[in-house]
Amino acid sequence: MHVPKWLVGQAISFIGLRFHGRENRLGSAPMSEQSLISYIIEPSDPSAHLFRVQMTLASPTPNGQVFSLPAWIPGSYLIREFAKNIVRIEASTDSGPVAIKKLDKDRFKTDPADAPLTLSYEIYAWDLSVRTAHLDQNHGFFNGTSLCLAAEGYESGPHRVELLPPSDSKCADWKVATTLPRTGGESLGFGTFEAKDYDELIDHPVEMGTFTHFVFEAAGVPHEVAITGRHSCDTERLARDLKLICESHISMFGELPEMERYLFMVMAVGSGYGGLEHRSSTALICDRDDLPQVGVEKVTNGYRQFLGLCSHEYFHLWNVKRIKPAAFTPYRLNEESYTELLWAFEGITSYYDDLGLIRCGLIDAKSYLELVGRTVSRVYAGEGRKKQSLAQSSFDAWTKFYRQDENAPNAIVSYYAKGALAALAIDLYIGRVTGGTKSLDDVMRLLWERHGKVDVGVAERGIESLINEVTGEDCTAFVGPFLYDTHDAPIEELLSEIGVGVTTRPAESDGDRGGTAGKWSEADLARAGDLGVKTKAVGHGVKLTQVLDGGAARAAGLSAGDVVVAMDGLRVSGGQLTSRARVMGVGTTVEVLAFRRDELMRFEVKLQAPKRDRVFLYLKEDVDASCLERRTRWLSGA
Ligand SMILES: [Zn+2]
Repeated sequence: MHVPKWLVGQAISFIGLRFHGRENRLGSAPMSEQSLISYIIEPSDPSAHLFRVQMTLASPTPNGQVFSLPAWIPGSYLIREFAKNIVRIEASTDSGPVAIKKLDKDRFKTDPADAPLTLSYEIYAWDLSVRTAHLDQNHGFFNGTSLCLAAEGYESGPHRVELLPPSDSKCADWKVATTLPRTGGESLGFGTFEAKDYDELIDHPVEMGTFTHFVFEAAGVPHEVAITGRHSCDTERLARDLKLICESHISMFGELPEMERYLFMVMAVGSGYGGLEHRSSTALICDRDDLPQVGVEKVTNGYRQFLGLCSHEYFHLWNVKRIKPAAFTPYRLNEESYTELLWAFEGITSYYDDLGLIRCGLIDAKSYLELVGRTVSRVYAGEGRKKQSLAQSSFDAWTKFYRQDENAPNAIVSYYAKGALAALAIDLYIGRVTGGTKSLDDVMRLLWERHGKVDVGVAERGIESLINEVTGEDCTAFVGPFLYDTHDAPIEELLSEIGVGVTTRPAESDGDRGGTAGKWSEADLARAGDLGVKTKAVGHGVKLTQVLDGGAARAAGLSAGDVVVAMDGLRVSGGQLTSRARVMGVGTTVEVLAFRRDELMRFEVKLQAPKRDRVFLYLKEDVDASCLERRTRWLSGA
């Protein structure tokens, strides 16, 4: 049965109370007050980036109460030790101070107290990301994982929050955007909120400031957008476009998960990109120029990327916020939670984020195939895909994908990018073995019915079981090589069956991300030379950020971190390294002078042929009717 979240919260606040069995501690206090955990959160010093929190626990554990902050936030698989940002903490009861000490990186313990216990603490919030907290004179943002300590043993009861406005007069016109269920105060105002349990409390981030706010409706549910930061967004157009995306995903799954409202929280900055999914909202960071501008009608590359990000996080409403790996049910937020399934939760979501854009008519087939081509190019450019499987990439997200160093392209594969190709391959495989009657959409709907809707975690091989159920065939031999081994997903062959051609070519410049046919002739490409490096312009030279396995630079002994100052006696800067190598030609031996730290070193590099790792997809003409029908169904979702 599904009832609105806030209604569940109300019911549980009374049930939870009776089970704690400390109902007489507070004399005549109403029962619901006794098990309640409350927080007063104040952006106390925006200039110093400090939030002040006062947390009260009505009936602490008699032998000393343990409090903790999560070490990671769902959706971002890295141990971040949020408690490191607590700069000062004190505990007290009405009778006076209570001793509190740190137990480990995340936990504190107070001395025994037999009266309501209050913690007062300050949190340093100066990380402009969707994962933590940020506060200055312009706005405040926080996730509960950064600000709200959990009281051990009381996580399943209600948690009340009072948000106070900053006292700084410069912040007098601040408003609040959050989907945390409100119990007091005006819409968009500071006030009181209540979550049914700690999990809910930390799944509704809060934005405060002078944001632009507008609303549209999808599936009869209000969808709000709050844009913080300087911008000149065409809000009418954005509302119209987001509505199309939301309705496309809702129609694919058959229904919107039960919720009162949904909120896109957008932080517009000069340069930034990222998003984090939540149960009824998402926090996003984007370039302000990627937002649609008044008077511009076309979907620019930047706007397409922003729409893809919104589409991605909205798809997560089903896939990962409700359809979850068994390893995340329940979340264990003080240690790594290992699963081989991130390829399904991030890869399938990455597949549908762009597919949603063409299915709802915001981009055309050419634009969509360019996006797919870029994803394939991203995967093909790394040699790491020959060493790490998708399952391993998922499992090791904590120490590898989220901690990438200069050797990443040689050592790992992205469960986002290759995961999206796995999803594409599985989608087209299902179409192939069912004569075009079924698709990955059917698997997603089954996942929703069997797992998301009823809150049952997906077993490690659970996706394959559902693929088998949809097709009536055993998919093990098909998916095994690209999920559990290091083979590429056979997308070229599968795309060809639905009338989509695939060609490859070398990168023509450093900024060439693939997805297009390219401008060079085959003859020019055939003689082009390549160093096999990724670079970044620095002071008086070009820094090698990555030296790729199998490339010319690697063979010559160059290393990531080296700063190249001259090639064949000529100074190099910016993107010149790649362009000069292209012109000098394959087989040419060039002298490269580079600084390693402060030592000048000389290398002889024999230029190689560049890898054909930029991929271009196109619609084939003259395809037969059944092929055309499958292709049309794929791109339309009908
Ligand atoms: Zn994601």
